Amino acid sequence: MADKFTSPDDLAIDLDGAAPLSRFRDARWLLLVGAVLGAVATLFYGVPVLASLSGVAILAAVAAFVPRRSRSMKLQAGQRRQLRRMWPGTGMKVTVDALPVPCFVADGRGITRYVNAAAIDYYGQVKPGDPLSFSLRAPSLLEAFDRVSATGEPERIHWQEKVPTEAFFEAHVAPVYMPGSAGADNRPATPDFILVVINDQTEQKRLERMRTDFVANASHELRTPLASLTGFVETLQGPAKDDPEARDRFLKIMLEQAGRMRRLIDDILSLSRIELKAHVRPAASVDLIEIVRHTADALAPLARDLGMTIRTEVEVDEAIVRGDRDELIQVAENLVENALKYGGDGEFVDIRIQRTKNGDAADHICLAVQDYGAGIASEHVPRLTERFYRVDVGSSRAMKGTGLGLAIVKHILARHRARLEIESVPGKGSTFTVHFMPSESA
Ligand code: ADP
Repeated sequence: MADKFTSPDDLAIDLDGAAPLSRFRDARWLLLVGAVLGAVATLFYGVPVLASLSGVAILAAVAAFVPRRSRSMKLQAGQRRQLRRMWPGTGMKVTVDALPVPCFVADGRGITRYVNAAAIDYYGQVKPGDPLSFSLRAPSLLEAFDRVSATGEPERIHWQEKVPTEAFFEAHVAPVYMPGSAGADNRPATPDFILVVINDQTEQKRLERMRTDFVANASHELRTPLASLTGFVETLQGPAKDDPEARDRFLKIMLEQAGRMRRLIDDILSLSRIELKAHVRPAASVDLIEIVRHTADALAPLARDLGMTIRTEVEVDEAIVRGDRDELIQVAENLVENALKYGGDGEFVDIRIQRTKNGDAADHICLAVQDYGAGIASEHVPRLTERFYRVDVGSSRAMKGTGLGLAIVKHILARHRARLEIESVPGKGSTFTVHFMPSESA
């Protein structure tokens, strides 16, 4: 790609610098007529020779030193045309500025002529006059640019960048012809400008990947109990046909597997329902103290089965937040159920409602669930809210887990503009704290 820079100054034509000699040549007919008129006036009308000569001299001086208007205008028009081909006009600039994605206008040789605000936001300062390759380095994009410049055919290309983080882009590279710039044989000349419009598709790709990963994970999770069910049905139809003892044992396992499938489907549906409402802020006022009491009562039988006790500690007089009661119950139940299931080495699970002042954050209401179990190694903590992420798949399955509980919690809290904080010390237990933003306190 060419990188020679031409500025409008390089194009400037020095009108005043046109040599007096060439102006004489241009005015030769006028001077001739003046000389003839002077001679006629002297010969036939008795005008003094000196006066006639002075008249011709004045005419010559005017021709030599005063630029002719029509010529300068002609030159300016030519200059303007050339400039129009070199620097995009206001119309093109305002159009490009109105686009929300990064846009570069370059000339056919790859020199940047204009960039919109979105491009400056994304790529930092871009100087018109610099080669496009100073800002856009992707080889496939620069090759596409050269092709568009040579053929005049628009192109759409995609590329991927790995550094500093993985990113995906799409660019539309289109030729722009100014009126009257087509070649003499009416085939397109080199485009006057080439418009490069760039789309960052990283987020879209990430969502696509998440969706396909989710479908793959969900089918895998469902296929395992389904395979087990099918296997037992075949065994009951064949070898264990007349074995009532085996039949009872197998039917019990089949019921468990069916329950696991039902829980998975319930959680998947729950997640997708919450996702559908992701952008709708809940409007009702919810009493967190009532939610904590409800959760403690609802999970008391499970705690009893596991030999544990749920303790509640309410350190505030009132804890009203803006929210959806059913969803906040789901959050509290998921956190307490996890604490009971995975904090089994301890004796208690504590649920606390308190007011906290955390760092720079303003005074706000928190709901904390603490267990005194095995805790979680620090490398797992940031990934716990990912769908189907489990520290130990075996123990999660044994505890009837689906791997979706904390993903559901995260989605519900995002809708409530609340934040989940996870602190865990291996061997000592974990605390899951929900911080309700002060503006969400009703
Ligand atoms: P699951 O259905 O497996 O419980 P969750 O999304 O609720 O799925 O939790 C994800 C994983 O996080 C669990 O499988 C478990 O490994 C870990 N985990 C969650 N809560 C706790 C806790 N209180 N103590 C230890 N590990 C926990």
